Amino acid sequence: MMQRELSDAELLALDLDLFSTDCERPELCEGDAGHTSNRSTESCCTGQGTAEVTCSANEQSSNQQNVSEQESDPLCEGSSTKRRKWDARIPLERFGRKYLSVTDLSRQAWCEQQVVYGMELPHIQQLRDEVPVVKAGSCLHLARELEVQDVVPINVESREDNWAVKMLNLLSMIQFLQAGELVRELPVFGELEGIFVVGVVDELCYNSKGELELRELKTRGQRTYPSAAQKRSHHLQVSIYKLLFEAMIKGQLNKDTITHHLHLRTEQPLGSEILVHAQKVGFTINTFGDLLDLMLLNLTYADIPSVDTMKIEYCYQADASVIGTEVVSFEEEWVKSELKHYSSFWKGQREATGVDIEEAWKCRSCDFADICEWRQSKAEEATQKNRANQCK
Ligand code: SF4
Repeated sequence: MMQRELSDAELLALDLDLFSTDCERPELCEGDAGHTSNRSTESCCTGQGTAEVTCSANEQSSNQQNVSEQESDPLCEGSSTKRRKWDARIPLERFGRKYLSVTDLSRQAWCEQQVVYGMELPHIQQLRDEVPVVKAGSCLHLARELEVQDVVPINVESREDNWAVKMLNLLSMIQFLQAGELVRELPVFGELEGIFVVGVVDELCYNSKGELELRELKTRGQRTYPSAAQKRSHHLQVSIYKLLFEAMIKGQLNKDTITHHLHLRTEQPLGSEILVHAQKVGFTINTFGDLLDLMLLNLTYADIPSVDTMKIEYCYQADASVIGTEVVSFEEEWVKSELKHYSSFWKGQREATGVDIEEAWKCRSCDFADICEWRQSKAEEATQKNRANQCK
């Protein structure tokens, strides 16, 4: 209900471009079941269950896997007018999450309350992921991935298999990077502020100076750059990728961190298709623990440099033409303080917050605007302030 909660000037004056012009990659591509792929040399595999390797089926499959992996535990009773049940668990546990995706965190930079509603009401979030603008963005990403690597379907039989797929892909990509080649859809993961975080880097390659470059593709519905608020969220995203990737190649990731956060069993035998594929690409393993040791060893001794440059390429969806490329400078202090702030919500150290009144324009394109209690309370505040000013 829009009513007269915030002045039209506040709500309408600013240009909205969130939903109509930018296509954030669906979170699921970042998560545990995100599509991963295989070069034509068959050096890595994909965890798609029995999914068809087409653009739409791929996304659908990813959805299903992610939902089963990280079962949500919605608190919301399905109506904005009903109060949420009181729950003493921290948000991470309340939502049944063992880890966060990088996009969970970068979306928090846009509106934290929106992320929470997305988890409480996953059917609405899924509808959003199904809209043509979002799907078109996913297809463009897949097309780019297929330019350099094949996607091979592999049956997975356990949660450990799901992670094995990610790790086999990573092992292959480490080899390509060491050989000076470009990789796309590189899985990154690790612990940040006590929370396990998982992401997928769009592209890593060496530039003409021989420096390692991290590239992120953002597709847009209009041939324009995004707003400053969106850019800020994109900058946070690529900066977190850099943090995770560098911790991995510096050997800072360890076995206990992975098994503790993800509740994975090292003694779990890997599924038959995983074993066949691992053997094909030269790894002799039996259990998930074998693969974990192998991955950590390879990461520790990998001869891969740190990321020198981060770039975000904005691409027009209609014809895949490039709108422009932005170079992002890595501001470590800023990224770490943002992470500290956002993770404090997941750890139950503070309540979720919505947008500031100056950014109320974001609410106009929000799927949860009608039920948002934050927005209602801010609107009431604004109304009272206006009344007080009129009485003076
Ligand atoms: Fe955030 Fe506004 Fe949406 Fe509420 S209505 S979730 S404050 S964007």
